[in-house]
Amino acid sequence: MLVNGAIVAGKGAGAVKARSTEEIEQIRVILRSRFDELNAEYEEAAAQNHRLRLVEIGDAAGDDQADSGSKTAERDAATSLLRTLLERRTQAEHAMQRLEDGTYGNCEGCSHPIPVERLEVFPSATTCVNCKAVRERRAS
Ligand SMILES: [Zn+2]
Repeated sequence: MLVNGAIVAGKGAGAVKARSTEEIEQIRVILRSRFDELNAEYEEAAAQNHRLRLVEIGDAAGDDQADSGSKTAERDAATSLLRTLLERRTQAEHAMQRLEDGTYGNCEGCSHPIPVERLEVFPSATTCVNCKAVRERRAS
């Protein structure tokens, strides 16, 4: 029986699947709406943060210890929310940039394709789970 070597080799080489224009457009829409969502959340959190600061300045004179402690906690929570939203927004923006560059879907760490299941859950992911874990270990 004859085996067609060219076809077999061709199948193996076909592992890297290029994204179609429709797919890219779909991902772009998803990332764009994610970005807009985060942007709105960020604006809201920033306004809230600003209000907290104004209240704090206004109240500072008459504060007792416990009061100013809970206000500090409130402000810290608002600040960390703001930071998280900003990071996510930057991440979504970064993923959009990678989509334009044609590198979207490949891990920034090991450059292997990111599993589709991961991208479905986190469309703005630019690293695979392993590289993300490595980065987080390094950052902490
Ligand atoms: Zn990786």
